[in-house]
Amino acid sequence: MSKKLRIGIGGIWHESNSFCIRDVTAEDFTRHGRTAFGGDILEHSERRDEVAGFAEVLRQHRHIEIVPLISAETWIAGHLSSDAVGFLEGSLRRGLREAGKLDGICFAPHGAMAGAAIADVDGHLINVFREELGPGVPVILTLDCHAVLTRQMLDLSTAVVAYRTHPHVDVVETGVRAANILLDTLAGKLRPVTAMVKIPLLLPPPDDGTKSGALKELFDKFIAWDRIDNVIAASLCPSYPWQNVPEQGWAAVVVTNHDVALADRLARELAQACWEARFRLLPEPMVTPHEAVRQAALAKGFPILITDSADTVGSGAPGDNTVLLAALLEMCHEVNGLALAHLPDPEAVSRLKSHRVGDTVTLRVGGKRDTRYCSPLTVTGEILCITEGPITNDGKFIAEPMAETGSIVCLSIQNVRLVLTEREIMGPQPSVFRKVGIEPFEAKVVTLKTGIGFKVTYGHVAKAVIRADCPGVVSYNLRNYDFNRVPRPMFPIDDNAHWELPAR
Ligand SMILES: [Zn+2]
Repeated sequence: MSKKLRIGIGGIWHESNSFCIRDVTAEDFTRHGRTAFGGDILEHSERRDEVAGFAEVLRQHRHIEIVPLISAETWIAGHLSSDAVGFLEGSLRRGLREAGKLDGICFAPHGAMAGAAIADVDGHLINVFREELGPGVPVILTLDCHAVLTRQMLDLSTAVVAYRTHPHVDVVETGVRAANILLDTLAGKLRPVTAMVKIPLLLPPPDDGTKSGALKELFDKFIAWDRIDNVIAASLCPSYPWQNVPEQGWAAVVVTNHDVALADRLARELAQACWEARFRLLPEPMVTPHEAVRQAALAKGFPILITDSADTVGSGAPGDNTVLLAALLEMCHEVNGLALAHLPDPEAVSRLKSHRVGDTVTLRVGGKRDTRYCSPLTVTGEILCITEGPITNDGKFIAEPMAETGSIVCLSIQNVRLVLTEREIMGPQPSVFRKVGIEPFEAKVVTLKTGIGFKVTYGHVAKAVIRADCPGVVSYNLRNYDFNRVPRPMFPIDDNAHWELPAR
């Protein structure tokens, strides 16, 4: 009987937003429900990620022994603190040492982790594989297409494959692709070589992701290359833009079977196509918060959405920014009908709970979690409702069917209905308004803290979507940030940014 091949698998999921106020700690990873070590990582039977894809393929082969290493995850937040990097590095190293001899690795580093001290944390962790396993063991990586791809990640790995959809619906499939590349490499059928061309583009994800428009055309272009002989994996990484790091920018990356010239030619062709499409990739226009309210008041029909992408909770923002609410309260007399807003604010909720429905109260709301971008707003309103969460998770923004909110209070301030919750909520959930007896689809104006999530829960009913240019950590107006570590010029944050393919 021939000896089994031992394959290490695992992944680490996090995107680091350089503008978030709080660094990510080791505890953020350890208290997350999906962080696990060794055999426990395969215990999550509901896993639908790259690790599930790795296991799905590898389990079919009797000569393979799966060696689960680490699965760590935390919500999008700021840079990784040194202690978080130390925790991940130590856990990975320990896992590898306990695993003993390994013949190959399938790993999902996601590709968008930046540290307070180390810019490329993913590359830093992949180096642990090399330090522990040596240079010869194949390491196949899966990446989010929002990876900020670095030279180090490519140099230390054997091949990379990235998601090909946004929203990401091919995550398991990406794991399957990686595992098949590893098996073929171990069998001597493939000798992967990689070419990458970085493109100086820095853009928020378009509303329709890869479903339509210029980004879809670019993805269709390289996905069609699967049919070319010797192409193993072509990918486009349009980057995670809210990261101020030296290797920021899009990446066209092509892995071929020992054909450097082909990999290079296709990566250059894709990079050139991205650059030529740049004006079609620009985000939807935004207007000032006051202008947004004015336009919403004049728009026909209902509901009219006003979105504040800069304060999107799932993207690392606090969700309690008051700039849009302040504009709404100043101008609500122009709105013919109800205008809705939500803020997470445990202090305000606790104060309001000591009152009764019908009381009129003056208090400061919001603006407490990140005072760099706004301040608390003093409002006077009548308490319409005091209730308790959870609410239904309408948009599947989290894994559970219900979203914890803590206590919920609804204030009536002229024609504005302000819902305050004890906890922040992932995604724009219509249920937060329904919970207090308001049907948001029948309101004239609904203000939402969302980038593209509104498409899921409000997209089918919204009569218009107006984007407010508010300050915050996830602004779609990237000119709002000081990208002092990013290579310049960069389109579109620099005027007349110019670029040509690098010389061969
Ligand atoms: Zn992503």
